[in-house]
Amino acid sequence: MGSLVTSSTKLPVRGAENSVPTLINGFNSVADIPTLLTSKPQLQTYLDTGVLNSQRTKKKSRSETFKARQKTKRHLADLATKIREPELCEKLLRCHSRVGFLTCGRHIHQVIPNYVCEFKLCPDCARRKSRKRLNKYLPIMTAFVRQNRVTPVHLVLTQTHRKEIREQSIKRLKSAFNNLIRREFWKEHFKGGTWSIEFTKDKDNLHHTHLHIIGFRSKFFDVDLLRAEWFSVTGDSFVLRLDPITDLSKGLLEVFKYVSKPLDTDRFTTEDLRDFLKLRNTHLFGSFGEFRAFKSNYVASDDDKVSLPDYSRYGDLVEGSVCPSDNCDRPLFDRRASATGFVKYLKKIENSAPS
Ligand SMILES: [Zn+2]
Ligand SMILES: [Zn+2]
Repeated sequence: MGSLVTSSTKLPVRGAENSVPTLINGFNSVADIPTLLTSKPQLQTYLDTGVLNSQRTKKKSRSETFKARQKTKRHLADLATKIREPELCEKLLRCHSRVGFLTCGRHIHQVIPNYVCEFKLCPDCARRKSRKRLNKYLPIMTAFVRQNRVTPVHLVLTQTHRKEIREQSIKRLKSAFNNLIRREFWKEHFKGGTWSIEFTKDKDNLHHTHLHIIGFRSKFFDVDLLRAEWFSVTGDSFVLRLDPITDLSKGLLEVFKYVSKPLDTDRFTTEDLRDFLKLRNTHLFGSFGEFRAFKSNYVASDDDKVSLPDYSRYGDLVEGSVCPSDNCDRPLFDRRASATGFVKYLKKIENSAPS
């Protein structure tokens, strides 16, 4: 996790002595918004409610996470039946119900599902999507950082809760963000990036919608100034979080992971699913600013070769290949199993030896 979970509200403020705060919504300077910036945020926000904490929890075993994803899917499939979406239910139950994989008996590689439903809330498909996204974006972002001498940061923007449907909540957040990136302050300090929407619900059933941004910072600034800008475009929200990403590959994987689980689907109700289905045409991920243009024109070059995370290293394996895990040269066998059988197999491996 490293830098991503450490609070960095106190960033080094280089050059702050030169930065004269501009007039913000009638405030002469940030210091004139005393209750907002000097006191601890009083509003309950995503940042205070343990969503980030949930990302800190101990790493679960592969069998546990696979099983948990199956459970989430069954829950969603039940809900789909209840709201009379039989097709969705069928797709969800079929997705990853059987898998093919290569194994040496001690390690497992290249798990290939029988079917992928591609429903945005499906945890298996969301996971695949975030990995694909990482493989696509990592080389482009690496090149962008190198060519523009920018620092990648993970920025989370939140908004206050209101009684509104999810669609409205997302619209409100997106529109504030669009206003933010048009502002001089933003343009002066950032060269675009990617955004993605994540939403959860708290115990009181209020929607928490927030934006995860991978931004490319071109200049240091006092994060309080950014807070003031955010307050200015939202009218009532100033809670954000900014963490530099020191290792791009790790950082992106981490950020895309947040995004691969856009919702707390285990606690979903029929109402939530109905609400979500209304978002079918809403984009939940995109790129913006200079980075967006760069991405469209990007042609891969040898200079941008990056090492992709482990899971993507084994794309060329076939039955009979040598197991690529460290200190293992056993041959790989092709196996097929139902989801339950696969969990059992994973457990057997996990219990027999630490990999
Ligand atoms: Zn092996
Ligand atoms: Zn799926």
